[in-house]
Order: sequence, then structure tokens, then C-alpha cells
Amino acid sequence: MADIIYTYAGSAYMNITNKCPCRCVFCIRSNGDGLGSAESLWLKGDPTIEEIKAEIDSFDFSPYSEVVFCGYGEPTEALDNLIETAKYLKEKHALKIRLNSNGLSDLINGKPTAHLLEGIVDSISISLNAPDAESYHRVARSKFGMEAYPALLEFAEDCKKYIPSVKFTVVDVLSEEEIERCKKISDEMDIPLRIREWIK
Ligand code: SF4
Repeated sequence: MADIIYTYAGSAYMNITNKCPCRCVFCIRSNGDGLGSAESLWLKGDPTIEEIKAEIDSFDFSPYSEVVFCGYGEPTEALDNLIETAKYLKEKHALKIRLNSNGLSDLINGKPTAHLLEGIVDSISISLNAPDAESYHRVARSKFGMEAYPALLEFAEDCKKYIPSVKFTVVDVLSEEEIERCKKISDEMDIPLRIREWIK
């Protein structure tokens, strides 16, 4: 059975969907079925909110102060469950909520969505991936094509209004020149950039 909750490098994670509009060249999903404590992160389908709550009720969160929504899919693909689950984790365990996202929630859900995360998500890490729409498309291979990158930037800008901590990430597969251009975008948008290692 696939894991909805797993632990990895000292943190607890929620894996609530395998859906994603991208096919990133560095996606961790192509490395294997599991990660950390999870034997498999491949779900049979999106779990229902009742199934997620049952998993939460049987998991010991006492070693953790924060839970990260990040699994083998984009959490905002299951936006209603994401919101409901984060509320439940806050109410029941007073946990901080971090969301790792590809930033395409508005396109995925067909509406502005950052405001829906207010008071629910404490920090968000958005994969910037590239310094422009064309190179983004080469790396992320999103089904939204050239629409994806500007929508990601707009979503990130919106998140600053509703989420206390907003960060961008890029994977260190980019060239130095591309990373410099990503830093410039981050500076202009006043969103810190974290360069993360490619987990192969
Ligand atoms: S957005 Fe995340 S889950 Fe989706 S393909 Fe890219 S790395 Fe994988």
C-alpha cells in the first residue's frame, strides 16, 4: 500500500496526490518507487479526506513541529484535500505547514488560488526552475506550455500577500548564467532563492 504520510531527513511529509501537469527532467519520481520511510509513494488514486484523516490519526507527529506537503505529485492538484488536511493538522497537532509546489496551482485549478492558502500554509517553496518561459518549458515540460512560467510568477507574487514565507528554488542542473538570471528575478520579486541539489 502506498504511503500518504512518510518521513525523510528528519521531517514529516504528506503525499496526497500523484497528479502533476509537468514532466520535469530532474523529477525524483523517476528515481524509484519510494523515498525516506516510504516503500512506495505511488497511490492507487487520490486518497479521500477521510482516508487522509485516518492516516493522520494513526501517525505519531510528536517529534515534528512542521509537516511538508510534497510527494510524488503536485499537492495543489488536490487543492480541497490539501486545505482540509492542513487545517486538520493545525487543529489537531498545532503543526506548521510547508507546501512544496510547482507554482501552477492557478492554471491547474482554473482560478486564483493563493488567497485560499491564507492562515493555512505557513511557508511555500515554489520551483522556479528556469529564468524564462522557454527554458522553463524545456526543463518542466508542463502541459500548459508557454502559459506556465508567467502563471508561476503571478502565483508567487500573489503568495507574498497571503503566506508568511515564500521562497523560490532551482535545481543545480542549471548553468551559472541561468542561475544568475534566476537570482535577478528573485531579487526583483523580493523572494529568496534556494539552489537545491539534484537528488539522483
Ligand atoms: S513538478 Fe514536481 S512532481 Fe511534477 S514533474 Fe516536476 S518535479 Fe515531478
